[in-house]
Amino acid sequence: MTADLDDLYQRMTSRLNQLRQERSELEEILAFYDKVLAAQQETQQQTAIPEIDLPEERLRLKVEEGFPLIDRGDFQVDRDSSRELFRRICHLSMEENPVLAAAGETLLEAMDSGKLDLVRLSAAVLQNDTEVIEGVAKDLEVAIPVVQALTKLSLQPSLLASVQAVAQRAAIDDWQYGYCPVCGGLPAMAALVGEEGKREALCSFCGNFWQLPRLMCPFCSTDKQEDLRYFHGEGDDLYRVYVCEQCRSYLKVMDTREGGDARTLAVDDVASGHLDLLAEEEGYQRKAPRLLGI
Ligand SMILES: [Zn+2]
Ligand SMILES: [Zn+2]
Repeated sequence: MTADLDDLYQRMTSRLNQLRQERSELEEILAFYDKVLAAQQETQQQTAIPEIDLPEERLRLKVEEGFPLIDRGDFQVDRDSSRELFRRICHLSMEENPVLAAAGETLLEAMDSGKLDLVRLSAAVLQNDTEVIEGVAKDLEVAIPVVQALTKLSLQPSLLASVQAVAQRAAIDDWQYGYCPVCGGLPAMAALVGEEGKREALCSFCGNFWQLPRLMCPFCSTDKQEDLRYFHGEGDDLYRVYVCEQCRSYLKVMDTREGGDARTLAVDDVASGHLDLLAEEEGYQRKAPRLLGI
């Protein structure tokens, strides 16, 4: 594991511990995510992916044209370690998470009996092949977002290794789009950083971070200021919900002056689930899938 990834896991873990102390009402979900994160970190150390074949010239052209660096089907996966992680996450769901317990058990049993082809499902999640994902979900009677999320959690170490292998080879610091420069994924959440109101986003697919263009909806690209606004949850200055009246989507944004930093966004996304409910009640839609599927 590279020093960058080591640092990332450490920050997320300490943020998680801090939130567990500050927000006791979230204990159940955060205790579960803590164990998932520890399993991902351990897996990350054993994850080795084949090289991604992307010559410099091709990377340069992609950035120039506004295309993401890696096509979703070109992400490399360490199949053995991700299979083992999938197994662990199913067990953790059964033991630590009442909402996911039945799904974890069903998926594990289906894998062991050969009913579930994890390689095929993983490829479908990577390429967002909704037909295959929906087929598995229907067959096993598990909710689609849960099938997707548990599989995705097991692929995260491989995805992060892919990002590490490619992102530093391309000039993506001035990326001007609402989608991720590495994979084209949508922001899961963003963090307000520094005094000028820069928003740094976490990619919902590959886990990369990038700076969102200012004063623009990352989902429909509108910059009509009268259609963009934000609100807070009651008594909570840490998280904001930015909404867009053009496309009726929302993005949660953490104010890092109040706590956390951009690298902890995955944890803060889980911890601010109440704002997802609030935004959806107000009629806005979350465009990126939820990390834990619930
Ligand atoms: Zn991405
Ligand atoms: Zn919009």
